[in-house]
Amino acid sequence: MALGLASGFLEPLESTSIYLIQSGIARLIQMLPDRHMSAVLRDQFNAESAFEIERIRDFLILHYCVTARRDSEFWKYCAAMSIPDELRAKIELFRETGRFYRNAEEMFGLTSWVQVMVGQGLVPSGYHPLVDSVADAELAQLGESVRQVVASCVAAMPSHEQFIDRYCRAPVAA
Ligand SMILES: Cc1cc2nc3c(=O)[nH]c(=O)nc-3n(C[C@H](O)[C@H](O)[C@H](O)COP(=O)(O)OP(=O)(O)OC[C@H]3O[C@@H](n4cnc5c(N)ncnc54)[C@H](O)[C@@H]3O)c2cc1C
Repeated sequence: MALGLASGFLEPLESTSIYLIQSGIARLIQMLPDRHMSAVLRDQFNAESAFEIERIRDFLILHYCVTARRDSEFWKYCAAMSIPDELRAKIELFRETGRFYRNAEEMFGLTSWVQVMVGQGLVPSGYHPLVDSVADAELAQLGESVRQVVASCVAAMPSHEQFIDRYCRAPVAA
């Protein structure tokens, strides 16, 4: 039974090892709680662990494959590389319809996926017709209220420098 970095490594672009350690412990307690090792539960454990890791893998690959960068051999390679079928289906669904469906218990949800896709320039060509029932002014008001909440939270927080000074300031050299 391996957990954390002892079980594998997914690149640190979106670090997930603490999450995988916690979900691995939860799965271990749920499925293999004693010394009686049921073969079917072991297989289920392995299948769920593989599912979880492969969905994180897809989310990581997404960062590289939807970018429009072509300014080096590295990015050209990323643009041409083959990608998992499940990831391709997710990208095509979003590109065509603006929809995203979370796959069962996968770690990254709608906000994370949409942020990366739109942030990398993948704008859907279609969308749900109900969207047109919301007036532009209403949408702008919603956006403004989100902006105000973020601004008031930022205003109440210390700056990065103030935070470091308060919690872990380096000693002044004598
Ligand atoms: C900057 C940063 C940000 C991160 N952010 C996140 C995050 O937001 N979310 C998230 O889920 N993950 C995050 N991670 C990843 C996560 O913190 C680590 O991957 C995780 O802590 C690894 O835990 P581990 O116990 O598997 O390995 P480690 O913490 O590396 O523990 C392995 C231990 O084994 C010891 N060891 C090694 N070799 C031997 C040996 N031969 N004999 C005895 N002991 C040995 C080491 O000294 C160490 O103490 C982040 C990591 C970094 C660096």
